[in-house]
Amino acid sequence: MHPTILGMDIGGTNLRSGFVDESLQLSNFHITSSQLICGEDATERLADYIRQEIQAAGVTPAAVAIGFPSTLNRERKRLLSTPNLDGLDELDIVERLTDTLHLPVFIDRDVNLLFLHDCHVNRLKGQVIIGCYVGTGFGNVIAINGDILVGKNGVAAELGHIPVRGLMQNCPCGNVGCVEMIASGKALKAIQEKYYPLETITDIFRNHATDAPIMNFINDLSIPIATEINILDPDEIILGGGVLQMEGFLKAELEAAIRYHTRKPFPERALRFHYACEKQENGVIGAALLAFKQLARREHQS
Ligand SMILES: [Zn+2]
Repeated sequence: MHPTILGMDIGGTNLRSGFVDESLQLSNFHITSSQLICGEDATERLADYIRQEIQAAGVTPAAVAIGFPSTLNRERKRLLSTPNLDGLDELDIVERLTDTLHLPVFIDRDVNLLFLHDCHVNRLKGQVIIGCYVGTGFGNVIAINGDILVGKNGVAAELGHIPVRGLMQNCPCGNVGCVEMIASGKALKAIQEKYYPLETITDIFRNHATDAPIMNFINDLSIPIATEINILDPDEIILGGGVLQMEGFLKAELEAAIRYHTRKPFPERALRFHYACEKQENGVIGAALLAFKQLARREHQS
């Protein structure tokens, strides 16, 4: 029998799950609210959800792989901090789920799973690949020689939290003046409320492309991206997230702003941008890619 993975992508708002086989075919795909697994008994709620999905599908997966909107420890066993969901801080989730489910459990940051998916579908290879995902916040991934950089404590690539001089807004991370406060979906929402209070955010790029607040927003988005490009000289750059998927998003203007701030002649002359396609199942498939990779690694070691 061919192995199947139960992949889960838990975002700040939605929980998505599905079974993925080795050819990355998806079945039993479901979307529900992430609040379903929140609270003091988060592990039990999550285990209950997984048991129900396994029972409904009638398939025992080879592993369960889950992405969280969290910081994780270096070993990818423990959730350190999850600002948008209750009950998912300082939690040894892998040990607790493995004990109750008797299945291998793999976890990672939600954005890392999107990145695995996007590298796979775009067949990206290279020494350095970076991903910048502008959703509610500003997500970032750095891969070196095919491995996602985790850092000493597991919290590398928090590009959204580089400080900006003079910026005094409080960031949910606890610091003041993080770039995410001006370069994210949250920031775009604040612009809409301040300058276009009678309109919806959906049409903001279509209707106001040449307005100063929108042009400044695009420039603010480009600064952390260009900063990372100047540090790493990446082979490939993935740009994604809900903001970039909005109707009329100013892709050409963002690329021009990134180029403006990038060192000349290189890396500017050789920049290669790839846009993530925003599908609900991408993180679930990315979770399966993580699990297949980890299972192969275990097999190799034993
Ligand atoms: Zn921050």
